[in-house]
Amino acid sequence: MSKKHVFNAGPCILPQEALDATVDAIKDFAGTGVSLLCISHRTKEWDAVMDETRALWKELLNIPEGYEVVFLPGGASMEFLFVALNYLEKKAAYLETGVWAKKALKEAKAYGEAYALASSADKNFSYIPKDFTIPTDVDYFHITTNNTIYGTEIKKDLDSPVPLIADMSSDIMSRPVDVSKYAMIYGGAQKNVGPAGCTFAIIKLDSLGKVSRYIPTMLDLHTHIDKLSMFNTPAVLPLYVMNRTLHWIKDQGGVAEMQRRNEKKAATLYAEIDRNPLFVGTAAKEDRSIMNVCFVMAPGYEALQDEFLAFAKEHDMVGLKGHRSVGGFRASIYNACTLEDVEALVACMQEFEKLHA
Ligand SMILES: *Cc1c(COP(=O)(O)O)cnc(C)c1O
Repeated sequence: MSKKHVFNAGPCILPQEALDATVDAIKDFAGTGVSLLCISHRTKEWDAVMDETRALWKELLNIPEGYEVVFLPGGASMEFLFVALNYLEKKAAYLETGVWAKKALKEAKAYGEAYALASSADKNFSYIPKDFTIPTDVDYFHITTNNTIYGTEIKKDLDSPVPLIADMSSDIMSRPVDVSKYAMIYGGAQKNVGPAGCTFAIIKLDSLGKVSRYIPTMLDLHTHIDKLSMFNTPAVLPLYVMNRTLHWIKDQGGVAEMQRRNEKKAATLYAEIDRNPLFVGTAAKEDRSIMNVCFVMAPGYEALQDEFLAFAKEHDMVGLKGHRSVGGFRASIYNACTLEDVEALVACMQEFEKLHA
């Protein structure tokens, strides 16, 4: 089979090295003679994987003292609920930048006075609202740093007078982050750091313990911090892939190198979208994501949409169909996507232009 260029939005493309190492571990985990899928998680070999995974997170993102990294059950959607239960006492403000931000807000509304401080819903979330002041009378301010569906991104770490909580599902490890500015950073692994089935959360320890409600054991962040993410059986296979993916990031030169590559890939693709008369980008230029690149057929060429998708598929492009709420195309160019993949897509767009412009 010919090599595919994978632009899936999530589950995402992962480094081949991580996949190969996982195949080996499924056959024989750490020289134990037992498959990774059948080991006990109460062994020193598995403890070593968990310890190393936490250490890699801390090293790669330069996480300061006073923070802990945990891997929570239930996906990023469950983490919306973790946030509300563990941080919301009375009031919380959310930046409404897309569907995921709205879903996060919805969970919080059940537990207190949670509201959208600013929203870009008026233009189908094609930009990041800028005209707002973070209030000081809220328990926390919640943002979604990268809007996977709309291709917009908050690329700077905001200064916030209240605890700042960020869903970084789709841009974690794509660039360096000043973790000290956040009370909690969380996300599902399957956009940039692993397969579906596990999540991450980076938690500032002294930001917890400020709510008075009873929190069910499995939804209490303390449980997972105290038990080193092994209160119950951890998702051994996804966590192993995450471990190998983090190793790969480190071997490539860390998150600064990821950022350099991601910016180069994004600039290459956006330049073609802006040049090619057949296509037009959907996100406001200053807010364009370096992870999810959204574009549509230019006015006058709308009827060619399905033809371009079929053309791209013939040229080994996978996962380019845009989300139904934006339409058109979305190329997710996560860490493991290469400049060669992006250049192949650009070549494909140029060939299509020759046929139709
Ligand atoms: C995909 C995604 C989610 C939801 O992730 P699940 O693990 O499927 O619950 C939440 N937030 C963002 C930004 C996402 O991209």
